[in-house]
Parts: sequence; structure tokens; C-alpha cells
Amino acid sequence: MRLCVPLVTQDELVGMLHLEGLAAQAKLRDEQEQLAVSLAEQLALALGNARLRESLRRQSVLDPLTGLFNRRYFEETLRRELARSRRMASPLSLVVLDVDHFKRVNDGYGHATGDAVLRTIAQLVRQSIRDCDVACRYGGEELVILMPDCAQQDAARRAEALRADIAGAPPMPDGAGPDTITASFGVAEFPIHGPDAEALFRAADRALYQAKREGRNRVIAAGQQ
Ligand code: GH3
Ligand code: MG
Ligand code: MG
Repeated sequence: MRLCVPLVTQDELVGMLHLEGLAAQAKLRDEQEQLAVSLAEQLALALGNARLRESLRRQSVLDPLTGLFNRRYFEETLRRELARSRRMASPLSLVVLDVDHFKRVNDGYGHATGDAVLRTIAQLVRQSIRDCDVACRYGGEELVILMPDCAQQDAARRAEALRADIAGAPPMPDGAGPDTITASFGVAEFPIHGPDAEALFRAADRALYQAKREGRNRVIAAGQQ
């Protein structure tokens, strides 16, 4: 004799309890079935709670608009990666990206288009990074990418490829909105350009602002200005 009990929580099927070798005798089997049903309820509840915890954990580290990590997660990760980089004496690069003239997108096409353009850029960032890289929305239309085990030269080359991807891709999936969108980049390496999180970020940010001053849609490496 076998029995399948669906595990349902909040009207959603989250699993199946499959039992084999149930008693042939009706009374005993009834008891076993009742036990299985109450066990399934407990299991469904536990699975539902685990899912909820996981979804809350994800929500607490992800930016809802772009699906990239949020600023809080970036700050935690930067500190952790700096410690690892110090311990292993391995390079760590920080890329800061700011969308060019983004205000014009909002002003010219509306906020919803601005949001869609940000999502396109986030998708291009996701496609361009390595598994160990951490891409975050630092705020507004400014993104950061942490590149562990990556020296500045390599990081700048990869930022340049991403810059070209962004400049070459349609900013909106349906072809609406602006014809092109560009972004400016600053790239700094720990510890050469900054001995701690704040200094490293400042160095990358200074490089980014130089990229803006020099005409936007470009990558500037800190220390080579
Ligand atoms: P620059 O090339 O100098 O960076 O110019 P900019 O227009 O990109 O810079 P500015 O800082 O003047 O404008 C940034 C704009 O980004 C203003 C703000 O309304 C917009 N913005 C920030 N967050 C969001 C968002 O989540 N969605 C949308 N649609 N717009 C946003
Ligand atoms: Mg901008
Ligand atoms: Mg900005």
C-alpha cells in the first residue's frame, strides 16, 4: 500500500510526501493516513517558512528595480573582500558606473522609461561580470562592480567592454525611448589607489568624475589621470 500527500502552504504546492508499505489492515491504515496528513501539514509549514526566510533574505540584499545587490550589501561585501584581498595579497578592483545625462531620459520620456533603461543597463552588467564579481546599485543611476582577484588594468579593460555594450545596445527592449544611452566609469584598485574602503571608493569616484568632465561615455583608471 502506498500514499501520496501533497504539501500545501498558502494555497501553493511545495512538495509531496510519498509513503510506501502502509498497513493492509483498514483501521491501522487509517491511523497511518491521519499521521501522514498531520506530518504533511507540519512539513508544508516548515517548507513555507524556509521559503519565506529565503525570500526575505534576498529582498534585504537586492535592489527591487534592477535585481542587482543593494548598497547595504555592497558596503558589507566591500569590507569582507578588502579583508580577503589583504590576507591573500590578491588584487581587488572597484568599478563605479554612472549613467550619462540620465535626467534627460526622465525629463524627455518619463520616469517609467528611465526605470526600464536602468533595467537594461543592469542586465548588460549582469551579462558582463564574472561569477565572483559583485554588481550593486549604489543609488539612483550609479552602479558599482567589485572585482575580486582582478587588477586595475584587467578591470579597466572589462569596464571598457561594458561601456561599449551599453553604448551599442538598444536602451529599451521595444525600441521606444532614447536611441542610445551611455555611461561613464571610474576604476580603482586596492590598495594602490586607496588603503581602505572609503579611500578606494573616493579614488574610483574621482576617476568617474574625470570621465564626466572629459565628455562622458568613457572609462578612466585612477592613478592614470
Ligand atoms: P550626468 O551625466 O552628469 O551623470 O547627468 P545625469 O543627468 O545622469 O545626473 P543627475 O545626477 O543630474 O541626474 C540623475 C537623475 O537620475 C535624477 C534622478 O531623478 C534620476 N533617478 C535616480 N533614481 C532613479 C530611478 O530609480 N528611476 C528613474 N527613472 N530615475 C532615477
Ligand atoms: Mg548620471
Ligand atoms: Mg549620478
